Amino acid sequence: MGQKTKNLLEVYQDYQALNSTIYLLEWDQQVMLPPKSGNYRAKQLGILSRLSHEALISSNMLNAYEQLEKEQNKTSDDLAILRVLGRKIRNARKIPVALSEQKARLSSESHAAWQEAREKNDFSIFAPFLEKTFKLAKQTADYLGYGNHFYDALLDIYEEGCTTQDCIAIFDSIRVPLTNIAKEAEKLNPKKADMLEKPGDKTLQKEIHLEMLKDLHFNTERGRLDECAHPMCMDIHPHDVRITTRFIPLIYSSYLSTLHEIGHGLYEQNISSKWVDTPISGGVSLGIHESQSRFWENIIGRSKGFWNKYLPKLKPIYPHLQDISVDEWIKLINYVSPTPIRTESDEVTYNLHIMIRFELELAILNGDINVKDLPHYWKEKMEKYLGITPKNDVEGCLQDIHWAEGIIGYFPTYTIGNILCYQFKNKMEQDLTNFNQLLDDVEYKPILNWLVDKIHTHGQYYSPKELVELACKEKMNPIYFIEAMKKRYLST
Ligand code: MG
Repeated sequence: MGQKTKNLLEVYQDYQALNSTIYLLEWDQQVMLPPKSGNYRAKQLGILSRLSHEALISSNMLNAYEQLEKEQNKTSDDLAILRVLGRKIRNARKIPVALSEQKARLSSESHAAWQEAREKNDFSIFAPFLEKTFKLAKQTADYLGYGNHFYDALLDIYEEGCTTQDCIAIFDSIRVPLTNIAKEAEKLNPKKADMLEKPGDKTLQKEIHLEMLKDLHFNTERGRLDECAHPMCMDIHPHDVRITTRFIPLIYSSYLSTLHEIGHGLYEQNISSKWVDTPISGGVSLGIHESQSRFWENIIGRSKGFWNKYLPKLKPIYPHLQDISVDEWIKLINYVSPTPIRTESDEVTYNLHIMIRFELELAILNGDINVKDLPHYWKEKMEKYLGITPKNDVEGCLQDIHWAEGIIGYFPTYTIGNILCYQFKNKMEQDLTNFNQLLDDVEYKPILNWLVDKIHTHGQYYSPKELVELACKEKMNPIYFIEAMKKRYLST
């Protein structure tokens, strides 16, 4: 490593330490913080965020960055470091401080208005804030700059190199097949069983979760599992990865959701040691991250092998499941039915929810529809694509926290993750010819090794699109996802 690279990485340490401390405080806020300690935490986070921003655009950072940029003999590692850090610095410099402050203020006001609007089931309370949020999103895009469409700039924040056209193409290719699969699958559903919902002993459930961590090779010496209302993965550092779960009466939900968060955590834990404490550390995009979480949730967590092992462990907690077979259980948890709530939806209809949000974001930003008319258009699209009508706005356009927090351009990354997870699985099946046997045997090490080798270890060295092409020898292709949905949900 050259001296100029060393200099840049040294300056980078302050920025990284500030950011990882922010994540740690955020984890603490969700998991441990006493109920009335929130005010000071908000102040701490505000100050640390400012310091982190200042560190990123400091003259030290810029000098070190420019020195390496001017270097004649840059290595490919240097180029990757410059690409990743350069994006961050440029974005931080392009957005005026006044706009950042305005966004931060709006986000907390808007969050409060969203909560009140939900309590009173009255969208008009939230509408003026959402209107401002979209206005500021558009301004942000203008400051960041974009190629063909201003939405490209917003997408790029979460999914490097992803364009509006990419998203339009993705949703065009899944819209009709998914709508058809959902309709067909509903006819094959088993009778919805009440047996899926029952509270269970938490201590016993926790023991099962700890065993899952072991089976998936999550390193508990450099990570931990805790309980909180919102399952999440907080990647404080590759050597300190915190995941959380929750125990709710929907029996299978906490297991799938823990598998999901473990999937996020494994990605962070398995980044090459070469990249730890450099800008290359960390998952490369939200879409790739979600492909990893969905892999463990939906491919492992819905497999027969997994439940052959884990269903018997559930039976002492839930005696009413005593006589149920693994096949019956899998049919029950793979229930396809449109529901108005995205987070409660099944694997098939989930992406139709995402598509609706993408179409509405674009329509609002394009000026084709007004924010105040959102409830109307939301209902129209739900009826068109899912055949259901939300009974009110709480079940409709007030359900997600994302817009309330000022996040626009994020939703498509969920669908990208769902598509990629099956594309990776397809390639993995070619490379690991005993893949199905491994699933049956709950022998996940070779599966994890494949993911580490093709995806995790690289961190952000390759852009998301390059990474997919390297791993799969082709560009992102929704066909594997569609075929998998047909196979899983339409074969009896
Ligand atoms: Mg996730």
